[in-house]
Amino acid sequence: MNGEPAYIQIHCPRCGKRARLDESFEFTMPQEEKIDTQGKVHRWGGWLVVEKYPNLVPWVTPGSGVSYQHWSRGVVKCPHCHLVAEKALEWPADAFYKWPLRGDLVLWAYNEEHARAILDYVGSKSRKPSGDYAAHLRKIPKEMLSAKARETLVKQLTASLEEENP
Ligand SMILES: [Zn+2]
Repeated sequence: MNGEPAYIQIHCPRCGKRARLDESFEFTMPQEEKIDTQGKVHRWGGWLVVEKYPNLVPWVTPGSGVSYQHWSRGVVKCPHCHLVAEKALEWPADAFYKWPLRGDLVLWAYNEEHARAILDYVGSKSRKPSGDYAAHLRKIPKEMLSAKARETLVKQLTASLEEENP
């Protein structure tokens, strides 16, 4: 993973439970000719854009000079109410895993895996950022890692992770 998570977990816009948000398009380098006849693969600049949900979110080429904003046309999939729909991500408002801290600070995680990485990091004594989320872990403000703040944070994180494990 390089900064961009493979998927994001959000509150389902319909039932509020934990749902998954997928990016609707896959961007690849056009090494081999993959343009198909059903129109699900498009050339865009130097990219080959593959529609992952062609019936739901067809690719629309942005105007010249405009870039595609990742997750701006995501697809939410809810295992609870079975919603499958286009959803523009609002971050961190939509985040399923987020914890209010002192002041205006909000700590958030892209998904359960990320939340567990934060818990491991905050709860461990050495607290050396490692793994896929190391770059994100390094950004956690120092004040959140003081002994007292850490204790509260570990409790909050543990509670969130126990809350929903389908
Ligand atoms: Zn739902």
